[in-house]
Amino acid sequence: DLETVLLPLLEVIKDLHSQYQSLKEGTVANYIPELAKVNPDLFSICIVTVDGQIYEIGDLEHLFTIQSISKVFAYGLALEDHGRDYVLTRVGVEPTGDAFNAIILDEQSNRPLNPMVNAGAIATTSLIKGAGATERLNRMLDMFKRYIGHDVFVDISVFTSERSTGHRNRAMAHLMLNFGMIDQNIEESLDLYFQQCAVMVNCRDLAVMAATLANKGINPITQEQAVKKTYIKDILSVMYTCGMYNFAGEWAYKVGIPAKSGVCGGILAVVPQKMGIAVFSPPLDRRGNSVRGVKVCEELSQRLGLHLFECS
Ligand code: GLU
Repeated sequence: DLETVLLPLLEVIKDLHSQYQSLKEGTVANYIPELAKVNPDLFSICIVTVDGQIYEIGDLEHLFTIQSISKVFAYGLALEDHGRDYVLTRVGVEPTGDAFNAIILDEQSNRPLNPMVNAGAIATTSLIKGAGATERLNRMLDMFKRYIGHDVFVDISVFTSERSTGHRNRAMAHLMLNFGMIDQNIEESLDLYFQQCAVMVNCRDLAVMAATLANKGINPITQEQAVKKTYIKDILSVMYTCGMYNFAGEWAYKVGIPAKSGVCGGILAVVPQKMGIAVFSPPLDRRGNSVRGVKVCEELSQRLGLHLFECS
C-alpha cells in the first residue's frame, strides 16, 4: 500500500540521484542559444504525493522553460473551452511514432495526429479562448498558476528566440490553415504556443503539476481545482500513448505510467491516485528525452512497482 511505498521514498530518490549524477550521456538542446547554454550537470528529482507530501533532491530551485510539457496542460484548457467532441474534430489521439516536429497530418481528416506532437499542440493552442492575445495569454498563465500554486512568468528571451527561429512550427500552422484546421489568426496562436513553451518552472513545480493530475485535477498543496475532473482521463490517455516522443511505446511498456517530456530536459510523470513525479536533467537522448530522467523513472517504476498493469 501507499504508506509502505512512501516510507523509503526519500532514500530511493537520493540513491538514484547519486547513482545517475555521474552519467554523462546525451546532449542539451541547441536549436536556440538560450537552451544550449544550460549547465548539463543540473539534476533534480521531486515527488509530490496526492496528500501533499514532498520528497525532493538536487537543484530544485533552478528555473527552466517548460517547453513541450506545456502541451499537456494546454490540451486540458482546450478541452475545458470547447468540450471533448469539438476538440476531437481538430486534433486526433493517435500516436505517431514519428519525431515530435514531423510535418504530418492525418490523410483522411487532415487533423494533426495528437496534441503531444508540435502540429497537434499548435492546433490545441489555437483553440484557447480569449478576446485577443493578452487575454488568451492571461488565461493560459492563470491555468498554469492553478496547477503550480503560484504566479508563473514567460522567459522573454526564450520566447523571442523561439518565435524568430520557429519556421517549421510556422509551416505546420500554415498547412493546418490550408486545411481549415486552425483559424486565420495563426500569428497570434503561434505566439501563444511559443509563450506557453517559454513558461518558467522548476522541478518542484512540475511535480506539483503532475500530482494535480494524479489527484483528479485538484492541486494537493492549495486544494484548488486546476482542471475539470472529467478531462483527466483524456489528458492522461494522450500522455500515456504519445507523451514521450517516439519512445512512447517503449516507455509505456517499461515504465508504464503517463508522462510527458520536453527539450528542456524535464520529465513529468503521473501515478494516478498516488503521486506526481518530476525529473530535471538537461542532456537529451536522440529522441529528445532526458537521459537521466528516463533512467530515474525506469528504476523508480521498478523499485516502487508503479507500472499501471503490474500485478502485485
Ligand atoms: N518549443 C519547442 C518547439 O516547439 C518545444 C520542443 C519540445 O520541447 O519538444 O519546437
